Amino acid sequence: MFDDLRELYQEVILDHGKNPRNFGAMDDANRAARGDNPMCGDRITVYLSVDDEGVIREATFSGQGCAISTASASMMTEIVKGKTVDDAKELFQSFHNMCTKDHCDMSAHEESDPDAVERLTVLSGVRQFPVRVKCATLAWHTLNAATTSADEAEPETVTTE
Ligand code: ZN
Repeated sequence: MFDDLRELYQEVILDHGKNPRNFGAMDDANRAARGDNPMCGDRITVYLSVDDEGVIREATFSGQGCAISTASASMMTEIVKGKTVDDAKELFQSFHNMCTKDHCDMSAHEESDPDAVERLTVLSGVRQFPVRVKCATLAWHTLNAATTSADEAEPETVTTE
């Protein structure tokens, strides 16, 4: 990684890790799921308020984890707000590729949400540290489970593999 990207990476992780956005349970959530990353001990719950059009109106998370999992969850809640569930899932797929593959084409998202692409590019710096990929993607795996959960169902738990 280039030095400036490494610095930006650390800055972003530290900032969101220390001051997570949208942190806390959501009382009127209609989707929720728990995520568990036993390798690191990260445990989070993602809460969503999804409207009839399939748009994520609000997203929050609670739980405890390392700085990377917390920062990733914090950024995710900001990124997916206002997106449709389908768009969020596509973004997750691309982000997962960014974290695990050397070359990933984000141009499909570049136009619609350059800000999200920039943040996820920074976060995908975890590719350098394979054991950390699960920390960085936990929130997104959990989001994925939450979007497919039934209304007001007891949150199911996903475990990252
Ligand atoms: Zn972790």
